[in-house]
Amino acid sequence: MKAEKKKKIIKTIKIDVDKCNGCRACELICSAFHAAPKYSSNNPARARIRLIRDPLKDVYVPVYAGDYAPAECAGRDKYTIDGKEYDECAFCRASCPSRDEFKEPDSGLPLKCDMCEGEEEPLCVKWCLADALTLEEREEEAEEEEEQEELEIGLESLANKYGLQKILDTVARMSKSKKD
Ligand code: SF4
Ligand code: SF4
Repeated sequence: MKAEKKKKIIKTIKIDVDKCNGCRACELICSAFHAAPKYSSNNPARARIRLIRDPLKDVYVPVYAGDYAPAECAGRDKYTIDGKEYDECAFCRASCPSRDEFKEPDSGLPLKCDMCEGEEEPLCVKWCLADALTLEEREEEAEEEEEQEELEIGLESLANKYGLQKILDTVARMSKSKKD
């Protein structure tokens, strides 16, 4: 099938690590927005953003949940900032089998930032009073076929890892809570 070009908006959240003061408001509002029902609880473990902190050195780095990775990667990164060496994988955005970060605590399903779908502005950006997070938008041309393919690959690897029934059960539970 011939792919058609269409316009899409690419949203980017710029992170200014020097401005972040470690208040964790971004984690709180993100978890509250994604609670079911919405705003019924705020558990940072459910947030799609998390803060890597070293208060003694005044280092705070917000990291957004990115794509789901079905397998651990073979190569790792190790960062040293202001003399402190951080764990391997500390700044990685993936929800992957090697660690618990960016996984829904009850179901273990992967979490990914959805830019607060349905909201005019991402809530973490709105709630960051230190202006450490700012939204940028640009328009790009995209192939419709490619987008569909990416979605299919994502669902297939999720089903391989967690089992289709578990995913269906979770979706059913979430839509039931939203209706309650
Ligand atoms: S809300 Fe802003 S200042 Fe507070 S932890 Fe998040 S990024 Fe940092
Ligand atoms: S943009 Fe929305 S979903 Fe993404 S981390 Fe911020 S509050 Fe969470």
